[in-house]
Amino acid sequence: MAKRKSMSSKMAQRKKPAPKLETSFCCPFCNHPDSVACTIDLKLLVATAVCYVCEEAYHTTAHYLTEPVDVYYHDWIDACEKANQDDECFKRQRRVSSDDDDSDA
Ligand SMILES: [Zn+2]
Repeated sequence: MAKRKSMSSKMAQRKKPAPKLETSFCCPFCNHPDSVACTIDLKLLVATAVCYVCEEAYHTTAHYLTEPVDVYYHDWIDACEKANQDDECFKRQRRVSSDDDDSDA
């Protein structure tokens, strides 16, 4: 029997390997790459992201659909940005209020 000629087309349609789930990330505090490990405890429904370089840790609630990337990007980075924003707002408000005090008084 002659070889099938469909080999090349089959090879072109080869399935890509399933992407690995990311479980280590760049630390938002020390910016060290792959230093943050995310673990999810489905018994306690707690997710933890810990940087082994600066030992910064973040804990959040988890559920059955929570993935490490969710903990890192959605929760930790969000929390960091909020904290930064709050800090900025706080500084700005203090600056504004002190200016107001000067002009009002
Ligand atoms: Zn770090």
